[in-house]
Amino acid sequence: MKCEIIQDLIPSYIDGLTSDESNHEVEEHFKTCPNCAAVCEQMRGELQPDRSKLNSDEVKTAIRPFKKLNRRIFQSVLITLAVCAFAAICYFYFFAIGWMVDSKDMKISYAVEDGALRINFELTNGMVLTPWRDRSSFPNSAFSFRECYSSILDDQGQYPNQFSHGIQHFKEDGSVDPFTEEDLVILKFKDKTEILHLKKVAEDMGLQ
Ligand SMILES: [Zn+2]
Repeated sequence: MKCEIIQDLIPSYIDGLTSDESNHEVEEHFKTCPNCAAVCEQMRGELQPDRSKLNSDEVKTAIRPFKKLNRRIFQSVLITLAVCAFAAICYFYFFAIGWMVDSKDMKISYAVEDGALRINFELTNGMVLTPWRDRSSFPNSAFSFRECYSSILDDQGQYPNQFSHGIQHFKEDGSVDPFTEEDLVILKFKDKTEILHLKKVAEDMGLQ
């Protein structure tokens, strides 16, 4: 067979596309023609790297769906975590922290108990009352009032809508120290801040 024909066949031969019969012809020719054998070796050297490159591309294409799947799993895990966190925050907000009480929903009454003044707070809208002692107004007592649907923090007792604050000053000898103009209770509501003047309240109650 002519060298020209053999060399035309060589690329197909390297790619394994030629028939057994052609393969045999080509290989027999190589035995007698070092030139064609050398051309074949050279072509093989040039073609192989391309083929391995192609193969790695094919591998990448084959792997891609799995990578996509992994990303999807990762995304759904993230979304699930976010939803859980959001639900926990909502639950905590509605059942533990709550929101500020509107002053119109609060009934305030006074009582005298064992010579001490007692202030009773009652939330009238059916919510659970959570008073927060506000330390920022020291030395006067200050409260900010919050309400929530149902407290999960602790057992609020039989009347979770009520809160009672007893207050009285005593002198060193144990006798009652009357309230002065400076004795205040600060009540922080959603719509306003109310200030109770204890001296006036005590006088109104006949305590001093
Ligand atoms: Zn030849």
